[in-house]
Amino acid sequence: MTTHGKVLMIYTGGTIGMLPAEEDNPLSPLVPANWDRLRRYVPVLQELPLQVDLHQMRLIDSSDMDPDYWVAIAQVIRDHYYGYNGFVILHGTDTMTYTATALSFLLENLSKPVILTGSQSPLGQPRSDAVQNLVTALMLASPRTFDLDLVPEVAIFFHSLLLRGNRTRKTSSSQYAGFRSPNFTPLARAGEHIRVNKKAIRRPTGESFFIHEQLEPNVIMLDVFPGLKPDILHRLFDIEGLKGVVLKTFGAGNTPTAKAFMREIEYGIRRKDLTIVSVTQCLEGMVEMGRYDASSQLLRLGVISGVDMTPEAALVKMQFLLGLGYDGQALRDRMQQDLRGEQSVNVFNFLYESGMAGPLYQALEQELPANFDQDKIAAAHIRLDAVGLPPEYPEAQLDLAFFVNYPATGDTVNLTDEQCLAIPQCLGLVKKPYHGQAVNVVLDCTERFSRLIIPGQSIQFSTVARMNSPVHWAAAAISIHTGTD
Ligand code: ASP
Repeated sequence: MTTHGKVLMIYTGGTIGMLPAEEDNPLSPLVPANWDRLRRYVPVLQELPLQVDLHQMRLIDSSDMDPDYWVAIAQVIRDHYYGYNGFVILHGTDTMTYTATALSFLLENLSKPVILTGSQSPLGQPRSDAVQNLVTALMLASPRTFDLDLVPEVAIFFHSLLLRGNRTRKTSSSQYAGFRSPNFTPLARAGEHIRVNKKAIRRPTGESFFIHEQLEPNVIMLDVFPGLKPDILHRLFDIEGLKGVVLKTFGAGNTPTAKAFMREIEYGIRRKDLTIVSVTQCLEGMVEMGRYDASSQLLRLGVISGVDMTPEAALVKMQFLLGLGYDGQALRDRMQQDLRGEQSVNVFNFLYESGMAGPLYQALEQELPANFDQDKIAAAHIRLDAVGLPPEYPEAQLDLAFFVNYPATGDTVNLTDEQCLAIPQCLGLVKKPYHGQAVNVVLDCTERFSRLIIPGQSIQFSTVARMNSPVHWAAAAISIHTGTD
C-alpha cells in the first residue's frame, strides 16, 4: 500500500443494502435501507487506507432503474470527478448490466475507474458475499493505493471477476459468481491476489472528461421465437414514436424466412423508418449476417448487425445514439461501430439495390467513412443474394468475377481465370452450379480487398458474368469487418 486514496461510493440500493421491511419480521420483503443502518456490517471500511465518502441516491430495487437515473448517476460522477481517485456504485444486480453499459456511453473520455458492485445476499447476512465484493471494488477504484494497475473503465466487480460493464450479462440469480462477459475476457481476476489483465484494458483518450445527458427511451427489445406472428411485429412497429428495435435472433442472426415475416421487417425499416439491429439470443457468440439464407434476407432489407454485442449493450447504445441525434443511415452506420469496447469488430456494409441485367455490372461509387481503418480489416465479403438467370438458362454454371475500382469492359467477359486473377484489382472468382433456382453467392475477398483499398478513396465494385449471360440478383452487399483494438 502506497498512498492514501479517495473513493466516492455512490449508493443506489439493491440487495446489498436491503433489510426486511419490518424490523421484527425477518421474513418480510427486503427493501433498501439507509447507509446509516448498514455501516455497522462493514467495520472493515475503517481499516482500509482509503477515504470513502458516501453519496446516497434515491434508494431503489434496481428493477426500477431507468434512463433518467443513469443520467443522474453520471451527473454525480461529473460533479465529483476531480475530487476522487475513482468511484464505486452500489447497485442491485438485476439491472446492473444496463447501468454499467449506459455509464460507459454517458461518461466520455473517462480516465478513472467506475466500478459497479452489489451482492446476491444483503450485507447484514452472515454468509453474505457483499463485504468481499465491496472491499475489492473499493480497492480497484483506488488502484495506486493498493499497487494495482489502473482500469479506467466502467466495470462490474462481482465475486472474483472484474468485467467490462458493457460486455456483461447477469447469468445467475443466486450464485455468488452472478455475472459473466461471455464475449470478452475479464479485465481482472481477484482470488488471494488481484491480477489485472493489462492487455484487455482500454486506454484513456487523453481528452477532457465530460458527460452526455440525453437518452432516447423509445426503443424496444424483442425475442424471435418459433411461431412469432408477423402481425405482432406489425402492431409493435406501429407504436407511436418508436425509433428502434433490438431483435434477439436465433444463433448467428437468423429469423423465420416466411414472406409475411420479411414483409413486416421491410415495413418497419422502409415505412416506419425504424432502425432494427440483430443480436444473438445465445449467451455467447456473434451475429454473422448473410451466413445463412435466413439472415441474408434481413441484411438485404437493411437490418443491421449487432455482431457480438449483448442485447443490453445494443439497446442502450441505440438509446444513446438516438439521444445524440443520430438517425437514418448515420445511426445504422454508427450502431455497427465500436464506441466503448462493447463489440469486437466494426462492421461496414455497402448495400446496393437489386442488380443488373447483362454480363457487366458497375456499382455506384461509395465513400469509405473517415474512421475506416484499412490496417485492421479482419474480413471482407461480397454477397449477391438470389442470383438468377433468364428462363432460357435452366441449367448453367454461374461464373462471376469481382473487381474493385477497375473499369471493367465487355472484353473482360472473355478472359480466362488466370487472366482475370492477374488483374491487380480482381477480388476473386465465384463458380456455382445453377439449376433454375436462385442461389446466393458469397466471395471471401479479405486478403485482396485489404491490399486494394486506399484510405480516403471511395470504392466501386464491378461484377462480370463470364459465361456472357445476363445475370440478375436481388441485392448485393460488400461487408467489411475491422478489428477494434
Ligand atoms: N432485486 C434486486 C435488485 O436488483 C436484486 C439484487 O440486487 O441482487 O435491486
